[in-house]
Amino acid sequence: MTDRDLLMIPGPIELEPAVLRALGEKTTSHVDARFIAAFGRALSALRQVAQADGAQPFIIAGSGTLAMEMAVQNLVEPGEAAVVVNTGYFSDRIGAMLERAGAHVTHVGASPGDAPAEADVEAALVKTRPKVLTITHVDTSTGVRAPLERLAALGKKHGALVVVDAVCSLGAEEIRATAWGLDVVFAGSQKALGAPPGLAVLTASPAAQAAHAARTRPVASMYADFAEWLPIMRAYEAGTPSYFATPAVNLVRALDVSLASLLEEGMSARVARHARTAAAFRAGATALGLTGLPARPELAAHTLSALRYPAGVDGALVGRVRERGVTVAGGLHPALKATYFRVGHMGAVSPSDIVAAVAAVGRALAASGHACDPGAAVAAATRALDA
Ligand code: PMP
Repeated sequence: MTDRDLLMIPGPIELEPAVLRALGEKTTSHVDARFIAAFGRALSALRQVAQADGAQPFIIAGSGTLAMEMAVQNLVEPGEAAVVVNTGYFSDRIGAMLERAGAHVTHVGASPGDAPAEADVEAALVKTRPKVLTITHVDTSTGVRAPLERLAALGKKHGALVVVDAVCSLGAEEIRATAWGLDVVFAGSQKALGAPPGLAVLTASPAAQAAHAARTRPVASMYADFAEWLPIMRAYEAGTPSYFATPAVNLVRALDVSLASLLEEGMSARVARHARTAAAFRAGATALGLTGLPARPELAAHTLSALRYPAGVDGALVGRVRERGVTVAGGLHPALKATYFRVGHMGAVSPSDIVAAVAAVGRALAASGHACDPGAAVAAATRALDA
């Protein structure tokens, strides 16, 4: 029964059978009429999922880090200023990437588990007048969800392009790209978008496209250049083939199926379901005596839970949970990684998956010598699910 393990890390995630079937279909030409239709549908679905009316969607073979790279490479030129709202590991990554692109980077940080004060972000915007403000919507290393709408409004107020790392939020947390003034929203296919790993996705607002068009020098990386991909994305969405670099045919078809299922559920229903699911898992975790890394409940993401090991328990817990049939992840934030673990609950995760995860974590904690009652924790999670 080796294949019955439940995958509950913060991405990749368990996939719907229909998505896996699309992945396993015969590979067609990238100019096959059925593929053109699937690619076109996926692009317009991506625009809807990000609520990015008027923006240009891109779907490119690569992981979420490529989408991050595209945002940085296309919008920033050497010598320009950038402000990074830093909530952890992935904010550090975009900061490092901006530095490699020659930007002058100002990080506005907080202690791990917290989000920077909005006044500090505004002060950095006033002081450095940056071309871009980057926000990690959900930092997967801490489980912290930044107050995206308010931070983006600050960026707009001070004339910055707002770049959002939505790798661990798009498809599960509320994102209104156009209404909130988000110029680039980027993600990968493997988390709340419900597809296998391997696709970089992003949306670029008219202002982001204008910033790219106004560059004084071409984007150094040809593969990352909006200029190469814009005509391709427009052609596929218009139902005509075009070629720059071979699209990941099967992955795009799988993404087409998963995005259709997201839109069928409806974005607001989906956001509400993730909130309920997260609350139920955390009711179970609290009953087990666990505390979360996020400093305040409103900072806790709905896509994953980052939970501290209780006294006397260490990283061996992750292996013990796995022996009980559920795969969870260890810590990731460099300063704290030995002190907590992470459980993903996004996408196709079902109420029974939540119950199974609470039970497996509880049994593993008990086997690690932590005094807790896994049955009571399951009851707490179940009550929250049925509330
Ligand atoms: N940003 C965030 C918030 C992420 O969670 C991840 C992946 N865990 C990335 C960026 C990088 O994405 P990928 O691993 O697909 O390159």
